[in-house]
Amino acid sequence: MFILVVNAGSSSLKYQLFDMDKEEVLAKGLCERIAIDGKLTHTNLLTGEKLTKEVDMPSHNEATRAMIDALLDEKYGVIKDMSDISAIGHRVVQGGPWITKPTLVTDEAIEDLKKCVVLAPLHTPPHLQGIEGCKAVMPNTPMVLVIDTSFHATIPDYASTFPIDINVARKHYIKRYGAHGTSHRFVAQECAKYLDKPVEETKIITCHLGNGSSISAVKGGKVVDTSMGFTPLDGIIMGSRCGAIDPAIVPYLIERENIPADKIGDWMNKKCGLLGVSGVSSDLRDVHAAIAQGNEDAKLAYEILVYGIKKFIGSYSAAMNGVDAIVFTAGIGENDEDVRFDSLKDMDYLGVKVDAEKNKNARSIPAPCDISVDGTPVRVFVIPTNEELVIARDTKAVLEAQ
Ligand code: ADP
Repeated sequence: MFILVVNAGSSSLKYQLFDMDKEEVLAKGLCERIAIDGKLTHTNLLTGEKLTKEVDMPSHNEATRAMIDALLDEKYGVIKDMSDISAIGHRVVQGGPWITKPTLVTDEAIEDLKKCVVLAPLHTPPHLQGIEGCKAVMPNTPMVLVIDTSFHATIPDYASTFPIDINVARKHYIKRYGAHGTSHRFVAQECAKYLDKPVEETKIITCHLGNGSSISAVKGGKVVDTSMGFTPLDGIIMGSRCGAIDPAIVPYLIERENIPADKIGDWMNKKCGLLGVSGVSSDLRDVHAAIAQGNEDAKLAYEILVYGIKKFIGSYSAAMNGVDAIVFTAGIGENDEDVRFDSLKDMDYLGVKVDAEKNKNARSIPAPCDISVDGTPVRVFVIPTNEELVIARDTKAVLEAQ
């Protein structure tokens, strides 16, 4: 069974075609600069042949067409006919209270997704356009929405409710929805396989650390808390996002810095975080380089990051009455040995100890990449995330349940 996974952003559309019998990616690609001019990059992973070309893409419809043409192409393609694709799985960032599990695309599901525009105004319209684009080109192919927030739907009310007027919260659907759920789910499930106990008894903390970062507490296979909140601005310091700050800073700055109320969100998303503190960059590699040059603000930004990770691990261990394993994933989690080492330093009280040598060589250690000191109670894993595979698996499961 072939499943196409589509991740539609405002000006881009990423895709991967899976052969689900082997869970193997046959081809992948990216349509970018949609509604600007249009460029397609496509790779046939069976042959390694890569196609790059400019294609006029006034909307997601043309991008979808370009994707299908590439998949069907005699030289670069991997399928003979569009009907070879059994279903399409769409990555959806926010399902709100309306969509909390992988859902077949129907008129009703689209109406529910439209309601999410208010909660994720940047992501939902492109998702809808991506779905429309696929529908225009492949009207008879079933489609499934795989929602990033759904893995967090199990968070108990006391952890997902913000302590504001409950009626206001309910009226505006304000609660902790979290983010990166598909990634947290993948690495938590992988990790659970490496623990010598039934999933129901596992206590895992997953650290998805990239440009955007979130940390989740996963008890018995279910999320009980996560660091991102109503929006992906909450939690630890990120590339250019501030993470959780005293909410009183917002009105204070509106008044004192003359930042208009409608610009403060943009400021917190784009001018803060590692970038704002270091004054150098939102990319942690640049921050490291600046630290090496003696930049004290860069050092401070780094210290805020590792301290923030440590605090979440401490509080989530408390929330779960212990922890069996800590997982690092995404750009920073998978690649930055310093962040892993420093955030877990001085945690012997919890039974956490990272082996310096294993941590350094993590990228060359095969799965399960366990970087904890032998015999310590809490295992520490580095697990590359694979959100597309989860989307493909969910899509297949929904299709088979029909
Ligand atoms: P996104 O949230 O945009 O998907 P990524 O998961 O790609 O982000 O993570 C981006 C972050 O990962 C950047 O801060 C970058 O510095 C860091 N990163 C990526 N590769 C490496 C590497 N090889 N070593 C250290 N950090 C890395």
